[in-house]
Amino acid sequence: MIIVKPLGGSGEDSRNCFLVCSEQGNILLDCGVRREIANLERVYPLLTQEIVDSLDAVYLSHAHEDHTAALPYLHNLGYRGPIYASKETIELTPSYLRKWRDYVKEHDGTLPFDDNDITDLVFKTIDERTPLLIQTGRSGHIIGGLWMLFEIENKRILYTGDITYESLLLKTDPLPKADVLIIDSAYAGRHLNQNDQYQHIYEIATKTISNNGSVLLPVPANGRGIDIYQYLKQFDLPIVVEDSILKNFEVLKQHSSWIIDSELLNTTSDNVFVANDGNRNQALQKPSVIIAPDGMLTNYKALYYFDQLKADSNSCVVISGHSAIGTLGNSIQKEQYRIDNSIKLKVELCTIKVHLDDDNVIEQVKNVEPTHVLLFHSAAENCLELKNNLTNVGFNVVADLYHQLEI
Ligand SMILES: [Zn+2]
Ligand SMILES: [Zn+2]
Repeated sequence: MIIVKPLGGSGEDSRNCFLVCSEQGNILLDCGVRREIANLERVYPLLTQEIVDSLDAVYLSHAHEDHTAALPYLHNLGYRGPIYASKETIELTPSYLRKWRDYVKEHDGTLPFDDNDITDLVFKTIDERTPLLIQTGRSGHIIGGLWMLFEIENKRILYTGDITYESLLLKTDPLPKADVLIIDSAYAGRHLNQNDQYQHIYEIATKTISNNGSVLLPVPANGRGIDIYQYLKQFDLPIVVEDSILKNFEVLKQHSSWIIDSELLNTTSDNVFVANDGNRNQALQKPSVIIAPDGMLTNYKALYYFDQLKADSNSCVVISGHSAIGTLGNSIQKEQYRIDNSIKLKVELCTIKVHLDDDNVIEQVKNVEPTHVLLFHSAAENCLELKNNLTNVGFNVVADLYHQLEI
């Protein structure tokens, strides 16, 4: 029998970590954190000593902290085996681990690991000799992001990692058939049209600038940050972009096999001001669209612009992705917080998809034709309708941490 058990990430939106147990060994798919350091038992996956001692291998879908930053904790609990990932994910992951460590320290949180638990991790590049793995494909979510197909006890187990088919820049390979599908459902309960979402951002930008205000777009430097910049650059709008976002275009150029069209990677034009630590104080000389890391408004770059604009009722901040509880990007969505902190600028929500919504999940389930489905990356209450729709047509579905798939 194969058991697929979520240790985090199912029925909740972070700390993605899935245990697959079988006669052929026990493996872990991803090992991430949730950025809520005030509540330690909710930060790391539900790893027990028994689970850690039983593991043969870990497989990473991509480098983001909600899929990787619990790896040092796993090491601290005694795991010394291989961590398989794409070459690009292996290059990117250490910086996410250090960022997580620094973030926790800055916020006086407790770290359940030491620095050597970061440096001593054993990464191995996924190739045709990787045990149990029979196929991978690009997931369109970040450079190095993969979906992974395993063959275990003659069953095919497909893990999508974080996936989208709607990136403007990154390629996504079609999913293969499988018996078990562990699928990104981050926008469960929603039906989002990517073109409409981009159009909405453009409309907010033109309206705000014509009212003499600026639009702050806090974005992750990797992922949707470069997509949003790429989209807005085609219009005649004054844009301020942080150089750390543009640097990712250089990274993309060096990884052209992950890109839809490298012709798109023309980075600047006359209406673009490239900001950095040396010239940021000159960036806001006229109403502009400002694209700055990070997406949750915790990085000093986005915070600089936020402080400049927060008292201006003509200006606006657009939150385009997930913001964890306790981060400014989450707090400013509450009216009372804005009143208490004299924040006058408008707050708009406009999700740019880097994951799957209900319609996308249904479409991919039809393509993959599994018998068993595990939904992850979304709160349990948001998955109810999707889970019921799939259960009603005969699928075995798990969408929380209290159940497991048995195949
Ligand atoms: Zn991700
Ligand atoms: Zn994720």
